[in-house]
Amino acid sequence: MVPGLKDMTIEELTEEFDFLGLWEDQCRYLIELGEELPPLDDSEMIEQNRVHGCQSQVWFIPEVHEDATGTTIGFRAKSDARIVDGLIVVLLTLANGKTPEQILETDFAGTFERLGLESQLVPQRRNGLYSMVERIRAIAKANEGRQSPDRTTGSETTEVENTSDNDVVPSETSGAQGKPTLPVADDAKSLDIELVRSQFPALHHTLDSGVRVTFLDSASSAQKPQCVIDKEREVYEQYYANAYRGVYRYGDRISRELEHSRESIRQFIGAESTDEVIFTPGTTVGINLVANAWGRKFLKQGDEIVLNELEHHANIVPWQWVAEQTGAVIRYWPLTDDGQLDLDASAEVLSEKTRLVAITGMSNVLGTVPPLSEIIAKAKAVGSLVLVDGAQSVPHMPTRVAKDGIDFLAFSGHKLYGPSGIGGLYGRRELLEAMDPFLCGGHMIDQVTMNGFTVAHLPAKFEAGTLPIAQAIALGRAVEFVAELGFCPVHSHEQSVLRYAWEQMRQVPGLQIYGPDTAHRGAIISFTLDGAAAQDVAQLLDIKGVFVRHGHHCTMPLHEHLGVPATIRASFGLYNTKHDVDVLIDALHFVRQELKLDS
Ligand code: PLP
Repeated sequence: MVPGLKDMTIEELTEEFDFLGLWEDQCRYLIELGEELPPLDDSEMIEQNRVHGCQSQVWFIPEVHEDATGTTIGFRAKSDARIVDGLIVVLLTLANGKTPEQILETDFAGTFERLGLESQLVPQRRNGLYSMVERIRAIAKANEGRQSPDRTTGSETTEVENTSDNDVVPSETSGAQGKPTLPVADDAKSLDIELVRSQFPALHHTLDSGVRVTFLDSASSAQKPQCVIDKEREVYEQYYANAYRGVYRYGDRISRELEHSRESIRQFIGAESTDEVIFTPGTTVGINLVANAWGRKFLKQGDEIVLNELEHHANIVPWQWVAEQTGAVIRYWPLTDDGQLDLDASAEVLSEKTRLVAITGMSNVLGTVPPLSEIIAKAKAVGSLVLVDGAQSVPHMPTRVAKDGIDFLAFSGHKLYGPSGIGGLYGRRELLEAMDPFLCGGHMIDQVTMNGFTVAHLPAKFEAGTLPIAQAIALGRAVEFVAELGFCPVHSHEQSVLRYAWEQMRQVPGLQIYGPDTAHRGAIISFTLDGAAAQDVAQLLDIKGVFVRHGHHCTMPLHEHLGVPATIRASFGLYNTKHDVDVLIDALHFVRQELKLDS
């Protein structure tokens, strides 16, 4: 029962919502309900009673009632917005007068679903609603199992100390997982490669010379399928607005689309909650975020960070920087001669001083795919965290962060057939919650005063400012596209192209391939041609329409290890074919002729 309100059950409230049917009318009804909510005293509308995570100001005051039959809890509450007051009435109708145990068993999310609130509330308001649920559950949790005083008569009501948001008990509703958004592929089917290729407009161009484009630089940045291009365009043409701000229709739609994308990404990488999926500009920023927000807070003098020479500069330099700031020490896990991590050397590099193993999921030069589960097990055995640089692995193989025990995963949208300027960082909830914020400003705060600020809940805590909105939404479409094709068909197609390329390239005179055999690598081959500068090779290949990258590929330590200043890299995406390999091989013979390498 809600004090001061007419006695109403949740069933009656649901019936009324059903009867009204239209959200417009239900919204008016919520306002009416809210108008009946009794006011609180000014002395009660204080910080201690405030519920954080709501856009409006909301205050909750719990009262524990004890008598011979047991303990029940009642709440008095109020906000500064009338629709929110209506939502408070819904919550109090669900919770008031129940025992702590009954409150903890209450299916809040199910009721919101039945009332249509799940689909009608804008995400900010929905998050606020769940923050109130969390407060109610935290108070119930704190009073669970409380024995009633041994009295035979009489009863007592106590206003209990409010539970702060820091003590909030994570509930099954917080960061609730949404409905499946990812299509399920038929793993037994092979890729219909012509159909796949037809969806990538940029693959179908010819140069002025009449030569067809053969794109072999997906490790740098992949081409985009039409559905991703269309999605970004749809955002601008149909409902563009800033996200998480406006309650008007465009603002609402855009926030929902973003959350849909976040949910698709969550499923794609196997995270438990969307709270653990942070939009970032890409892998580099994701790793910098962890280095600064986790590293600067938790690393101290003598702590060890384990890297290896395969790593991209994005997974070396932030750690060098943070080591310099904190006194932590970097250790390098040795490589075998063929460019794999030397697992036999694990005892030399891992110890109780190891705080973090930061490792690539797939090398952007050698294609090496380290045995992550073995490495994670070894790291966990010494109590270390593991960060995976997924820039290359996430587009090519399934990622299951929760199942595999990955603590942090950073990846880039542009290598995943999505837009540039957007990517993701996964972090395990407890770690993200314990970390400091990285960038500060709008959206990442809960309260700001002239004297300081408090931070917002996840994931907003790490999403300061305005996101690249259209790109983040289109990234969701990109992961749905890959999921629709399925990693089984994609991987076996890419591996067959890789094996074919490997065999053909090895027959080109003077061509050296770096790294492990095809059983231990993804679809990347870096090579040199004896007697030719990498840049000349790449330039001449371009004449034949073959687009490859050359240079150190942001891996100077690896190139030093290989003993060459630069390599040429052919990298394959899900749209490349054996025909592309044939074109590459012909073009390599052309290069050899042009550079007179035969003579
Ligand atoms: N890590 C690896 C393995 C990469 O291949 C790249 C890009 O090539 C990065 C990190 C950096 O990615 P971004 O430039 O998208 O931040």
